[in-house]
Parts: sequence; structure tokens; C-alpha cells
Amino acid sequence: MASFSRIILSTGAFVCLIPTGLTGCKTTGNDSSGTATQSPFVSAVASPSPQSADDALAPEKTGGFDGKRAFAHVAKLVSFGPHPSGSPAIAQVQEYLLSELKSYGCSVETDAFSSDTPAGRLPMKNILVKIPGDKPGVILLGTHYDTKKLDNFVGADDGGSSTGVMLELARLLCTQHGRYAAWIAFFDGEEAVKDWSETDSRYGSRQMAARLAISGDISKIRAFLLADIVGTRAPHFKRESSSTKWLVDLIWRAARNLGYANIFVDESAPIDDDHDPFLKRNVPSADVIDLDREHDVPYWHTPQDTLDKISARSLAIVGHVFQESVKQLQAK
Ligand SMILES: [Zn+2]
Repeated sequence: MASFSRIILSTGAFVCLIPTGLTGCKTTGNDSSGTATQSPFVSAVASPSPQSADDALAPEKTGGFDGKRAFAHVAKLVSFGPHPSGSPAIAQVQEYLLSELKSYGCSVETDAFSSDTPAGRLPMKNILVKIPGDKPGVILLGTHYDTKKLDNFVGADDGGSSTGVMLELARLLCTQHGRYAAWIAFFDGEEAVKDWSETDSRYGSRQMAARLAISGDISKIRAFLLADIVGTRAPHFKRESSSTKWLVDLIWRAARNLGYANIFVDESAPIDDDHDPFLKRNVPSADVIDLDREHDVPYWHTPQDTLDKISARSLAIVGHVFQESVKQLQAK
């Protein structure tokens, strides 16, 4: 995923721009990401167990969403090794996604395209699950499944976790029929091939938004819920500042009602991600992401983003909140 574009201080000032590589955006005092609310989780972060599949909540506690199944998907994605856009490994990932989705009875469309990148022209593929509804209108969910092009980078959390969640949501939603259609997008090419910029990043989501604009379908999207970097053991999701407020409110209210107020916290941070091309086209959009590198995801964009960082429990909580949010959007 994604890039910090800025960090907001409690004064409201934007303090830095760091689209490039691994350099960090440091906050200086008055940081809205204060540590006080996170202290209960420090010990869990400090002493990770290698068996994070074992911390899954029972599916009956998370609306039928099976955190162990989502975790197994992440393990499978990691087993393909690094899979940046255009690599032989990402072709295997695409086959895996398609075969899983078809096994759930999902109707799936693919869009193979190519993008000019700093590494030349690369083939990419978006995958879109379409679950029909009774009325015009679409609820869109999304994830990216490519991994950042870095040596030994498998992207268990960044690319893997949200994709595992979306696969498990597809298994549940593809058997349901709602008032509105539900679509699930699996984007290629979220990561910058070189340095994050408007033109080097979000290739897949820009492609899909452009295509939906041409077809006219984009105006049918009532809400777009994006997940990215959602698998860490002690997550804290802050309200992403550029996201659509009513939609963020709906998700955060659902999370609070399910008992996850300590995970979906009342702080905010701005992050560039795959929701941007949709926001630019006036689609109400929200990004659920934990990019708190100082506390939660110190392994972000490093070879340490590995399966041992992923918690089935976190995946289940995110899946539960997304499922509940979709239910509420279906009732709106
Ligand atoms: Zn990334």
C-alpha cells in the first residue's frame, strides 16, 4: 500500500510530504497518534508469537467471517513469494484468486491492461467480483494484491492481509442477494514501481475508475470501502482524512457497536491509496488502513512484512466490520 502523504498535527498543520521510498515522515510533538491509547497493546507487539492463526475469533462471533480462512489465504499469497506487478509470481496469485472466487460461485470479470511505469510497460490485471442486487446501485469493496517491488518483500500485511479479508468476504457475499449489487475489486499495481507519485502508483484503481467512468457505472457506486494493511496483531485504524465523512462515520459506528472502539479509534491521518481515483470521481469512499509505522507496522515496506506479523483475529475483526457496514449500506 499506500503512502503517507502528510501527518496531521493536532494543530491541524500538515508537516511533511514523503512520497519516496522508505524514508519516514516524522511527527514532531502534538502527534495525533499519541501512544497513551495504545499502551494495552504494547506487550503484544513486543513479544509476537509465531502462531498468529491461533488467535482467531470463532466465526460465530464475527458474523460468520472466518479469520482462520482469511489467514490461510494470506499464507498462500505469501507462499508465492514477492509478487510485484508484471512478475511471474503475480500471475500465480491471479490464478489463485480466480480459482478461489469461482469455487465460491462468484461471478468474476477480469481486466488485463498494461501501464507505462518507470520500469517500462508492465502487464497488469484487475479482478472484479460482481454480486447482483435488486435495485440499481453498487456497494464496492476493494483491496490491492500486488506487492511492492523490493528484494525479499512478500507483503503479508501490505497486499496480503486485505486480500485475505476480501476473499473471505467474497465467500460469504457471493451466496447472498442484496437490495444493491455488491462488487469486490482486487486491484493490481497499487504500489509504486519506483517512487510514489500521482503517475507511479495506484495503476489498477486508476484503470478501474476510468473504465467505470467511461461505462457510466461509476455513478451507480453508492459507497467504496477499501481495506489495506489490516492484519497486524494490535491494529489501530484511524479515520483517513480524505475519506468521505458519512461513510467513515458509518464504518466507525458499526465497529463501535460490535465492540471494537479500541481498534477503530477516534483519531485521523491522511493517506494516499486506491480510494483516491474514486474520490476524485465523487464516489463516497473510505480507506481502512493501519499505517502507524511508529507503533503498529514498523515492518511496513521492509522484508520483515512476513506472515508472523499477521493475526487471524485482526483479519476477523476487519471482516466483521466490513460485513456489518455492507449490511447497513444495503439497508440505506
Ligand atoms: Zn505498500
